[in-house]
Amino acid sequence: MKAQSPIAVPTDVYLSFVTSLFGNRQTLFAGMATHIITYAVVYAKTVDAFYLWSLAAFIIVCAYRIYWFLEFDSAEKSYFSREEIAVWENRYLVGGVATTALLGVGSAYAIAVAQDQFAMFACVTVTLASMVSVVGRNYGSNKAVNFQTLTACLPMMLSFVLVKDPYMAVFAGLLVPFLMTTRLMANGVRDFLYKNVLAKRAMAELVDRFDMALNTMPHGLFMLDASNRILVVNRKACELLHLGDQERLKDCDLDIVLRYGARHSFIDGSLPALIHRQLAQLVDGTLSRTMLQFSEDLFLEFSASRRPDGVVVLIFEDVTPRVRAERRVLHMVRYDPLTGLPNREYFGDLILEQLDELPSDALLGMMVLDVDEFKHVNDMKGHIAGDRLLCGIAERLRDVVGDDAIIGRLMGDQFVIFLSGAQSAEELNDRIRQIHTDMRGHYDVDGSQMRITFSGGSLVIPKGQFRMEEWQIKVDLALFEAKYRLRGTCAPFEQEMDARYIDQQRLKVELRDAVENDALHLVYQPMYRPDGSMVECCEALSRWIHPTRGAIPPTNFIALAEEMGIVSDITAFVIRRACRDAVLWEGGMAVSVNLSVHDLRSEDIIGVVKEALAESGLAPERLRLEITESCLVEEPGTVENILLTLRNMGMTIALDDFGTGFSSLSYLDSLPVDVVKIDRSFVRNICEDSRRLKLLRGTVNLTRELGLKITVEGVETWEQLDLINRYYCADLVQGYVFSTAIAAGEVAAIARNQTRGLAAKVN
Ligand code: C2E
Ligand code: CA
Ligand code: CA
Repeated sequence: MKAQSPIAVPTDVYLSFVTSLFGNRQTLFAGMATHIITYAVVYAKTVDAFYLWSLAAFIIVCAYRIYWFLEFDSAEKSYFSREEIAVWENRYLVGGVATTALLGVGSAYAIAVAQDQFAMFACVTVTLASMVSVVGRNYGSNKAVNFQTLTACLPMMLSFVLVKDPYMAVFAGLLVPFLMTTRLMANGVRDFLYKNVLAKRAMAELVDRFDMALNTMPHGLFMLDASNRILVVNRKACELLHLGDQERLKDCDLDIVLRYGARHSFIDGSLPALIHRQLAQLVDGTLSRTMLQFSEDLFLEFSASRRPDGVVVLIFEDVTPRVRAERRVLHMVRYDPLTGLPNREYFGDLILEQLDELPSDALLGMMVLDVDEFKHVNDMKGHIAGDRLLCGIAERLRDVVGDDAIIGRLMGDQFVIFLSGAQSAEELNDRIRQIHTDMRGHYDVDGSQMRITFSGGSLVIPKGQFRMEEWQIKVDLALFEAKYRLRGTCAPFEQEMDARYIDQQRLKVELRDAVENDALHLVYQPMYRPDGSMVECCEALSRWIHPTRGAIPPTNFIALAEEMGIVSDITAFVIRRACRDAVLWEGGMAVSVNLSVHDLRSEDIIGVVKEALAESGLAPERLRLEITESCLVEEPGTVENILLTLRNMGMTIALDDFGTGFSSLSYLDSLPVDVVKIDRSFVRNICEDSRRLKLLRGTVNLTRELGLKITVEGVETWEQLDLINRYYCADLVQGYVFSTAIAAGEVAAIARNQTRGLAAKVN
């Protein structure tokens, strides 16, 4: 065992050694008292002044030592430097060595000089006894042990030798092993203590680290004994469960502790039964991991591990952000982000869930609501206003349908409602009608009130016949019917609709064939000067004579072609044919062609027109293009560019059906339009209703102000024509009053007559 030198040991251990020197007061004071009394008695026996001086010296050393002991007690030791500790060691050493030196010299004097038997016996005994206490008291200082044993033993050994007694010399020799063993014992004690101190220190460090790890880990932790009492709890656990002071929880029952926490954090103030049960399952090992919801703001995921001795470690983590994120994702997947209503898929899921709960003879109602003219709201007011309108509609829908219905947003401007719980089909139909009526009305769109109507399709069906994959087709068919027959109504599904739908699909196929095989043909409706003197232009109108169904109205097949995306093929056909026909018309009579919204979405139309003109040789000035207001709101930039290009080539642009759309006069000014064709709805009642006439005149005046020419459409009677002429409402008149649409050859005849008439007049 190696003796620890103060240089080798760490400062704190050195301090603890030096502190040990200043401890053990009883043995020290007992020793000092023994020394004083012994030397007093020896002096009394020998009356030798040497022992009186020794006595005085003992008292002084004793005072010195007491003084430094008291000083040491009051010193602030925790900040001692190594040097300061060494100073204290030396202070101790001075007192200790002075004492042993006095004892050693006293004994030597008794042996060699006084040669008094009692003095010899008393001094040597006291000295050797004190040597024993050196081990117990001074193990902390190597120096103290060495100096004290040496100063005590050396004078004695010297005196034994001095008396030249061989027995004494042997005894003196025996003091050497005594001296050595004393040193060894002291060193042994010091080493043992040193190791202990280090071990304790390592343990404290380990505890510190463990504590730090425990209290800085992001998880909450409870270690419970077999009877559910808390052995260990960390800071995070206290924080997450609002348990207050960590120290106070040791040895408490977990249930009671959680109830205490419950008072601070749980909504209803008592630990909900579910949490209680699940925790018990974790503790007893039935569950190894589970998530517990403590409140809307606190979700904790617990995992438990059990040891064979019944100790359970519960680790839990705050997973609230994760749960919230998952919920958000789920919400995003299930709900329409704009209106917050279930989307199509989730709506389907909700229906399936509800179906499970309904009796087999239950009646179900499905309803789709489609906002009429929603596109125009978007076009006119912008998409943000459109979005707000949809939100407003969703909100009203929630109020109107009641809690027992499921509602959703199918797409765009279509909402869907699932109803159940009615006793009869009649009741369910009434409810559907009521919802349709209640939804109609004024909505706030960008601060202004807009009247909104809905087209609806509905289906009432017993649960037994309900098919998830069919309901939507059926409701859509009903909606289609409502939209195309009478907008703003709600049509119930009827079996014939299926047939009509199939029929419509067939018609589409046939239309495609007709377009591909040039089976359409054109007729031309002349536009006359208001006095009827001359035809300036003829409008090309398409006709489709179906082999079995007869004439199909252009409004129908043009709409179909638009739906199918083939309307531009029709336009190209019309432009080509019209140019070819018109080039034969004498007198420079113009031809006018209708363009569809789809035609103005791409610049292809420019190529089509150029080609037709080049192929026929018709002067561009003789070609007029009619567009509707809806063309202008779609992609104003593109449309404007296309129209400008066409106009720059020499063509005239006419705005058709003016007054039927949503648009105002404001954009007429900025767009490349030359002619406005006022819709026949303006003309219809002008003879009977003076306000209608005023409206027509007002519109005409405003249009003229903008420098545009006016064609009035749909003039059917002479009375109407008279009024129009009286107020100079038209530059051209188109209508049955002069002519219906006629064949190209007839137009050619009119053109020929006109030029001849003109020639006759000139001649
Ligand atoms: P539109 O461009 O307004 O054409 C005028 C329509 O009004 C024609 O019906 C014409 O026959 C009708 N009409 C003319 N005068 C009178 C009248 O005095 N009283 C009444 N009640 N009606 C009159 P049509 O030929 O049935 O065409 C209907 C619509 O179909 C056209 O309206 C046009 O929008 C569309 N259309 C016709 N042909 C084509 C085409 O080739 N391409 C495109 N894109 N659309 C076409
Ligand atoms: Ca037209
Ligand atoms: Ca028109």
